[in-house]
Amino acid sequence: MPRPIEAVIHPQALAHNLRRARDHAPDARVWAVVKANAYGHGIERAFAGLQGADGFALLDLDEAQRVRALGWRGPILLLEGCFEARDLEVCSRLSLWHTVHREAQIDWLAAHKTQAPHHVFLKLNSGMNRLGFKPSAYRSAWLRLSGLTQVESITLMTHFSDADRSESGGGIARQWAVFEATTREMPGERSLCNSAATLRHAPDNAAVRGDWVRPGIALYGSAPDFPERSIADWGLQPTMTLRSELIATQDLQPGDTVGYGSRYTAARPMRIGVVACGYADGYPRSACDGTPVLVEGTRCDMVGRVSMDMVTVDLTPVPTAQVGSEVTLWGQGPGGAVLPIDEVAHAAGTVGYELMCALGLRVPTRVDD
Ligand SMILES: *Cc1c(COP(=O)(O)O)cnc(C)c1O
Repeated sequence: MPRPIEAVIHPQALAHNLRRARDHAPDARVWAVVKANAYGHGIERAFAGLQGADGFALLDLDEAQRVRALGWRGPILLLEGCFEARDLEVCSRLSLWHTVHREAQIDWLAAHKTQAPHHVFLKLNSGMNRLGFKPSAYRSAWLRLSGLTQVESITLMTHFSDADRSESGGGIARQWAVFEATTREMPGERSLCNSAATLRHAPDNAAVRGDWVRPGIALYGSAPDFPERSIADWGLQPTMTLRSELIATQDLQPGDTVGYGSRYTAARPMRIGVVACGYADGYPRSACDGTPVLVEGTRCDMVGRVSMDMVTVDLTPVPTAQVGSEVTLWGQGPGGAVLPIDEVAHAAGTVGYELMCALGLRVPTRVDD
């Protein structure tokens, strides 16, 4: 028998979350962001659930090729644009739309020979200071692009750094003001919102919503603003389940310790379950005592240090648990139980994004039907 761990991808939950994103931005088109191999889900595995999107946004030419190979004929957007001039040949061949965020990318386009002109997303650095033209340089970049026969359309684009936080703690007001002031006179479609902005700001602000929203994490059943809001608050469903089984149990007496470094000491007689899942499977080593784990669908506390191949769980809430009992590390458990990946990530001092992207290569993954 293979080691009892597996990951399960839920296409129906992906489709549900996509509909939720649409509900928040009813008149906008939706890019399903599938970078990082669909946030660790696997592009091929996620595709069935996300094919109701208006386009797919990603980073690598290789990923774009894979989406085309799945039969997708609609828009594909390269969120970081081309990395060198000859990437444009692939853009022309596969009809890829691409972001332009620096001057050299315009030079490459100007020198590029193409039959069909390109759809370009011109990125404004409205304050995040990663990619994009400064407000003072944006208009001249736009004028240069508009003069090129290689360009069919220019969509005005920016990205928010703090859309997951309320206005007092950040929010989008400052960057929105910069975008609005810079692009006020410019024609063309607009694209601003990641998941957090789509959920929190798009519903009541048509200008922020723009023509295209770009949700990623929300499609994968993680709340971008956890712990302020949870997936239950946003009506999202887990799209990735990491499940395993108990492979041993141990009865402890007060004073007995568990695992490396003896981090956990039993204060009372208790039973511990040993789960076939460790950090080599993508479970975060930084998870603290009390990180939730479902055993037979019931919430238990992880205790002791996470090791490469095992984690240990306090079985007090599930006296019936035994070797072979079903364990849900995150996602959808038996009997409709849900353990949001955000709760596990939070207990490990990280975010759902990192856990799903870091699912271990050795974990067999299947698609739910
Ligand atoms: C990754 C990314 C998104 C999606 O962000 P989420 O927080 O996952 O919704 C949107 N836009 C750009 C430019 C990105 O790089």
